[in-house]
Amino acid sequence: MNKKNSWQIARKQLEIVAEFIGLEPWIYHKLSECKRSLIVSVPVRMDSGDVLCFEGYRVQHNLDRGPAKGGLRIHPNVTLDEVKALSMWMTWKCAVVNIPYGGAKGGITCDPKKLSRNELERLVRRYTSEIGIIIGPEKDIPAPDVNTDPQIMAWMMDTYSMNVGYSSPGVVTGKPVSVGGSQGRREATGRGLVIIVKKLLEKISKKPEDINIVVQGFGNVGSVFCDLMSREGGKIVGISDVSGGIYRERGLDVGKVFEYFKQSGKIAGFPEAEQMTNEELLQLPCDILVPAALENQITDANADKVRAKYVIEGANGPTTPPADEILKERGVVVVPDILANAGGVTVSYFEWVQDFQSYFWEYDQINDALFHIMSSAFDNVWSVAEAKKCDHRLAAYVIAVSRVAEAVRLRGVYP
Ligand code: NAD
Repeated sequence: MNKKNSWQIARKQLEIVAEFIGLEPWIYHKLSECKRSLIVSVPVRMDSGDVLCFEGYRVQHNLDRGPAKGGLRIHPNVTLDEVKALSMWMTWKCAVVNIPYGGAKGGITCDPKKLSRNELERLVRRYTSEIGIIIGPEKDIPAPDVNTDPQIMAWMMDTYSMNVGYSSPGVVTGKPVSVGGSQGRREATGRGLVIIVKKLLEKISKKPEDINIVVQGFGNVGSVFCDLMSREGGKIVGISDVSGGIYRERGLDVGKVFEYFKQSGKIAGFPEAEQMTNEELLQLPCDILVPAALENQITDANADKVRAKYVIEGANGPTTPPADEILKERGVVVVPDILANAGGVTVSYFEWVQDFQSYFWEYDQINDALFHIMSSAFDNVWSVAEAKKCDHRLAAYVIAVSRVAEAVRLRGVYP
């Protein structure tokens, strides 16, 4: 797989939309840079007694529409450029669903699978202390991303709270419900994807049971999507994770896949299916392909082999701009990440609002509000794509960048 620089890709996407909408050059220049990039060294005492130093980042791309919002990723391939790209995508994502945040992202270059639970806790707590100078409920609010879960968010909230001297639940989202988290946050990104798939099916007059779906990634996003989509009647024919992929033309028994995954910790080897690589999985015949793992999965090297009719981007940045062009020429419709996976940040927004109010909503209220936001964002993107005769990524960017640009214009240049 070509390893592309995500930051260059993110800037290229902005350049395309800036040209399309005739964005003022000064706003374009402002938005093509990140407002703040903090690099921290994170020393951790390992269980052996040795001290190892990991590199961590927190990047805030833009704050014009509100405080910064974005997840924390812990992965061996994390780089500053990747975190910058992810923070820019967060700015657009918050704008496309019209929630009052700017974009941010955090990362630690580390393989958490090689750490004990205690080492991981020390890593997260020290990282949180190091970035404590720029985060806060009114400044920048981290959330989960790849390899970060509710427990990690609880450690982050506790560390920040210890440093400021009082409980500050609103400093992170994606926490367990018992420490100020929200009902429905864990499932929110997957649930949002299901809402998008159902909206798409309405447009093409199909039912969930009429379509075959392939999902790359079986983490928070991919596994919840498989679970909820199959409950809606959707046929999941292919699933993968980092260990490899599985395929069953007649449809996988998703319940059994969950049982197998729980026992073995991986997807590869599930007995009632054909085994394959991730590369092969992306090329399976299906109606809908949901990349829900990492960025740069559909590139100019494999886009002509994608046989799905629709790509719904669960992951951030899974399709490169050249691959986008190839898919467009081939008539494959891409529902872009900044719309498709915005369910997570939307319920994070609800969690933050609940923390400020210290008043917590019912599960159904969360899901209804999520449906309302995702559904109207989808309709908005669809009508802009029709009106401007452009693809859905460009339509989503037109909406997002125009909203951010308006805020930048109104706030002006300080001093
Ligand atoms: P996760 O850590 O829970 O899961 C990641 C999944 O991807 C795992 O199943 C892992 O095995 C798989 N994977 C890793 N490397 C792979 C590879 N090379 N090939 C195939 N599969 C691979 O992470 P997540 O939270 O589910 O995030 C997945 C994607 O969704 C990321 O791009 C993330 O930025 C994006 N996203 C997450 C959220 C959220 O709320 N968690 C919200 C919006 C977007």
